[in-house]
Amino acid sequence: MSKKRDFKRIVLKLSGEALAGEQGYGINPVTVEEIAKEIAALAKSTDLEIAIVVGGGNLWRGLAGSNKGMDRATADYMGMLATVMNSLALQDALEQAGVDTRVQTAIVMQEIAEPYIRRRAIRHLEKKRIVIFGAGLGKPYFSTDTTAALRAAEIEADAILMAKKFADGVYDSDPKINPEAKKFEELTYMDVISRELKVMDATSTTLCKDNDIPIVVFSMDIPGNITRAAMGEDVGTIVRGEK
Ligand code: UDP
Repeated sequence: MSKKRDFKRIVLKLSGEALAGEQGYGINPVTVEEIAKEIAALAKSTDLEIAIVVGGGNLWRGLAGSNKGMDRATADYMGMLATVMNSLALQDALEQAGVDTRVQTAIVMQEIAEPYIRRRAIRHLEKKRIVIFGAGLGKPYFSTDTTAALRAAEIEADAILMAKKFADGVYDSDPKINPEAKKFEELTYMDVISRELKVMDATSTTLCKDNDIPIVVFSMDIPGNITRAAMGEDVGTIVRGEK
């Protein structure tokens, strides 16, 4: 058992799927409300500064799935727009749960959100507003994992918390297929890259490695787990420079 980690500022990465609830696609308001309540309670009861990156796979995914035969960049831009819808849904639920929030988008859409401005994002965090980064990095051929990694580096976050659906950490093989699959408690970035473990895409892992940002991979299917991960308890798998 490693000792409890002390995070001051975190980036929480939620997949789009996390907002979908039972039906597996779209935005489920009840699910969003549950997630928002947990995050709001965490924000209210601690000094933790929370930034959120939410994916878009519940609505549209550029590369794999939705884009059959479509121009890649166009499909990716549609994916970025999907993340904006998710960001607004999450913002609404968080504010209803009683916390101040700002959405900042990497593609300017000033009628509905602030543009991404690094120093402003940091200021919001210092004022205890939850900042949601929408529209990914605003560039095709990237992902919301890359967004989490780059934004975490920019705002000098202490860790990225990767909240997963249907997975409670990183395994040496797929536990759904192999009942003998072994879960790792700790891994190095190099382990993840060389063994091609499914934590985040390789570009994002490399960014975290270069900037020494720990990644905590854990299940959000267990209520209270976002809080446990944010409080630095041992949930799931931690990826960092040294074990
Ligand atoms: N996307 C992109 N650039 C970015 C962020 C996202 O092109 O900087 C697109 C990409 O097509 C991706 C989609 O947005 O497939 C939705 O994001 P992602 O698949 O990462 O969401 P998740 O799997 O976490 O729900």
